[in-house]
Amino acid sequence: GEFTTEVDLLIIGGGPGGYVAAIRAAQLGKKVTLVERDKLGGVCLNVGCIPSKALIAAAHRYEDAKKLGEIGIEAGDVRVDFAKVQTWKQGVVDKLTGGVASLMKANKVEVIKGEALFANDREARVINGYEANRYRFNQCIIATGSRPIELKDLPFGGRVISSTEALALQEIPKRLLVIGGGYIGIELGTVFAKFGTQVTVLEGTESILPTFEKEVLRLVERRLKKLNVTVVTSAMAKGVEETANGVTVTASVKGEEQRYEADYVLVTVGRRPNTEDLGLDMAGVRTEKGLIQVDKQGRTSVGHIFAIGDVVPGPALAHKASYEGKVAAEAAAGEASEVDYRVIPAVVFSDPEIAVVGLSESEAKEKGLDVVTGRFPFAANGRALSLADAEGFVKLVADKSSGELLGAQIVGPEASDLIAEAALAIEMGATLEDVALTIHAHPTLGEVMMEAAEVGLGRPVHIA
Ligand code: FAD
Repeated sequence: GEFTTEVDLLIIGGGPGGYVAAIRAAQLGKKVTLVERDKLGGVCLNVGCIPSKALIAAAHRYEDAKKLGEIGIEAGDVRVDFAKVQTWKQGVVDKLTGGVASLMKANKVEVIKGEALFANDREARVINGYEANRYRFNQCIIATGSRPIELKDLPFGGRVISSTEALALQEIPKRLLVIGGGYIGIELGTVFAKFGTQVTVLEGTESILPTFEKEVLRLVERRLKKLNVTVVTSAMAKGVEETANGVTVTASVKGEEQRYEADYVLVTVGRRPNTEDLGLDMAGVRTEKGLIQVDKQGRTSVGHIFAIGDVVPGPALAHKASYEGKVAAEAAAGEASEVDYRVIPAVVFSDPEIAVVGLSESEAKEKGLDVVTGRFPFAANGRALSLADAEGFVKLVADKSSGELLGAQIVGPEASDLIAEAALAIEMGATLEDVALTIHAHPTLGEVMMEAAEVGLGRPVHIA
C-alpha cells in the first residue's frame, strides 16, 4: 500500500526555480519538502548553464593560449586533453550540486527522490522505482522545467544528439552538424569549433540568433567565420541516415535539397516544458500550449498551486526561474510579492559575448517611444586594449525627454558581467545623466557604460 505523508509546502523539481523557491520559503518559516527525480540543480547545473560555460571557458583559453605569441608570450605547443577537460567540467558541476544539497540541509528542506504526479489538487504521488508514496500538501510549487525538443524526422539516439549528450562527448568530433542557430547551438558550436571541429550550423530562419539586432550580431558572425564555422540560413533539416562513420542529414535550403555529412548531428531547436506527465488535469491546473498559466504571484488556476521557471511562459532562463521561485515562495508565505518582467537580462556566451536587457532601439520605436541612443566602442577603452580584446560596443537606449534608461545592448569582452550595471540602472529608474555622473574606476571595461551614456548626452570625452 501507499503511505500518505502530510506536508506543508511541496516543491516539485530541484532546478534553479525549485531549489531557490525552497530556500526562500524556508527562510520565511515554511516547512518545505522538495521532490526531485534526478539530480539537484536541474538542467542548469547538471546539463545546461554551468557545464556549457565550463566548456566555453576551456575552449576560449585554449584558443587564447594559441594566440599568446601576438602579445609576446611563447607558450610552445598548446594541446588539448579533452577527457581531462571533461573531468574538470564535471568537478565544477559536482561542486555546485553538492552546494545545493548542503543548502537544502542548512535550510531544513526535506529532499525526496522520485517522480511526482498529481492525484488531485491536494495530493501528489511520488514514484521511485517500485516504491510509491502519497504526499498531502497545503501548497505546492511546480518547477519541473523543460527538455530538448525532438524533431520528428531526426529523433534523438545514436549520433543524433541533444545538448545533454554534446556536453558529455568524450572526444572532440571531426565534423559536427548543428541544427538550430539559437543560443545553445551557437554556444556549443563555438566550443567545438575552437577545439578544432569542423562545424556547420543549419538555421531555419534568415539569421542565427534572430532575436538580436543586426549590428550586435555582425561581430559574432565574423568570429564564427574566422573559426571556419559554416552557417547555412533558411535551412530545414528533413531527415537523417546513419553511415559507417557518422551521419548524413538531408536538408532543404532555399528550396533545394542538400546533404551534410558529420560525425554527430546536434539538434538544438528549442525546449519543451515538462508538463505532460504530471497529472495536471487531476489537479485542475490549466495549461496553454503545454505552458502552465499563472498570475503575477505565480499562482496557477488552482489558488494554492504555483508554477515557476521553464514550465510557465517567458524566456527559458535560469535567472528568470530563480526570480519567479522567490516571488512564488514569498506569495505562498503570505507576502504581497509580484513579478515585474521589465528587466530580465539575456546573455549569449558566444565569441564575443552578447548581453542585452530592457528594450532595443527598434523595440522602443515599435512601442512608439521617442528615444536617444548612445554607443561607445571597446576599441576606445584602455582596459579592453590592454586585455587584447577590444572589439564590440555598448549601446544604451534612453527615453528622449526624460533621459530614463530603457535598455542596453552589449557585444564584446565580459558583456555578460557588464550588463548587470545596466540592469540595475533600469531597475532604479536611472537616467543617462545618472550613469554618466557615476565615477567608474579606470581603467575598466565598465567605463564603456559611462562613455556610452555621455555619447547619448552629446558630450563624449574619448571619441570625437
Ligand atoms: P530545470 O532546471 O529543468 O529543473 C527541473 C527539475 O525538475 C529537473 O531536475 C527535473 O529532473 C525535475 N523534474 C521534472 N519533472 C519531475 C517530476 N515529475 N518529479 C520530480 N522531479 C521532476 N539559462 C541561463 O539563464 N543561462 C545560461 O547560460 C543557460 N545555458 C543553458 C545551456 C544549455 C545547454 C541548456 C540546455 C540550458 C541553458 N539555460 C541557461 C537554461 C536553463 O538551464 C533553464 O532555463 C533552467 O534550468 C530552468 O530552470 P527550472 O528550475 O525551471 O527547470
